[in-house]
Amino acid sequence: MTQLFDAPAFEGHEAVHLFHDPDSGLRAIVAVHSTVLGPAAGGCRMWPYASDQAALDDALKLSRAMSYKNAVAGLALGGGKSVIIGDHHTAKTPALFEAFGAAVDSLGGRYWAAEDVGVSPADLAYTRRRTRYVAGLEGHVAASGDPSPVTAEGVFRGVRLCVWRALNRDLQGVRVAIQGVGHVGGALADKLAAAGARLIITDANPLMAQLVAARTGAEVVGLDAIFDAEADVFAPCALGGAISLESLARIQAPIIAGAANNQLAGAEAGQVLFDRGVLYAPDYVINGGGIINVAAEIRALDRGERFDAGWVESKLARLMLTLETILDRAQDERRPTHQVADEVAKARISEARAARAAA
Ligand code: NAD
Repeated sequence: MTQLFDAPAFEGHEAVHLFHDPDSGLRAIVAVHSTVLGPAAGGCRMWPYASDQAALDDALKLSRAMSYKNAVAGLALGGGKSVIIGDHHTAKTPALFEAFGAAVDSLGGRYWAAEDVGVSPADLAYTRRRTRYVAGLEGHVAASGDPSPVTAEGVFRGVRLCVWRALNRDLQGVRVAIQGVGHVGGALADKLAAAGARLIITDANPLMAQLVAARTGAEVVGLDAIFDAEADVFAPCALGGAISLESLARIQAPIIAGAANNQLAGAEAGQVLFDRGVLYAPDYVINGGGIINVAAEIRALDRGERFDAGWVESKLARLMLTLETILDRAQDERRPTHQVADEVAKARISEARAARAAA
């Protein structure tokens, strides 16, 4: 047990729950990193992990990131994440997601689930049959639906802010290379094109890239060629780990700002970005629009109210001010932006913990 509690990824977790339901075959992990700011909230991922250890590592890493993301977004939510071990193409059943609902419900509201990679609102409708602690659904008055458009709007504003700061210009004619044009990257491409940016895009699904190019006039390049694109902004909008020492040897853009979670492949990559003077918008700050949208549903469900798009906009606007504050502070203190973001998040959690202890 010592090895588990002392593992770097375990850092500060309040609880980690393992669930097994023999009837449905559910094997799930719910990691609750922090409930200091409020109930832990974060998506449920379904993935065919190579091992239980890999699933646990993913859950721990993702739940801690949710604590930081929710804190910088100014939400009354802590951080948590769940993973269901299994192939999301072949192993999904209503019974599996109902059993997952029973698992979430047994935590009594300490964790709110939402969708993540491999899990759709339709899956969570089954989860909802067994628990009220699930958000990101469709078809009821509090429902927030797909969070991607709000994520894309936040990333768009973040890119615009970075371009103002680093290049002292608006988006007209600015060249943006987008890696991955799915739900968020595609919507981001639309917004950037409408603002006059010139796009270079790639996607593992060539059809997706063609569809977005047809709408936006983007130039489509191969998966690997995106790293060599002559661009002012590199926007990772596919999977995590796009910014590595290898890719940084090729990415020449002075700005990196995109939607993907966990963009930095390691601490060294963050340091190289800083040493080279690249303006990096910390991933969990710039992409916080989606969790704000989900938080609006949790808030509406708790209060028995309708979904409030105005509340989402006010939180998104404030998140962009927080991004600006983080970039300012990093510049003033000559430190990497992702380190400053972590400090802001940790400070908000510590202040709430101190206030709770004093109450
Ligand atoms: P998505 O699955 O809709 O889109 C991802 C796209 O990337 C797909 O079209 C896929 O084909 C493509 N892709 C995968 N590997 C690639 C590669 N190596 N090179 C180029 N393209 C590749 O996912 P999404 O919802 O758009 O999310 C994109 C990223 O943003 C993810 O990292 C996600 O975790 C993060 N994110 C999403 C939201 C949201 O609201 N959806 C919120 C916060 C963060």
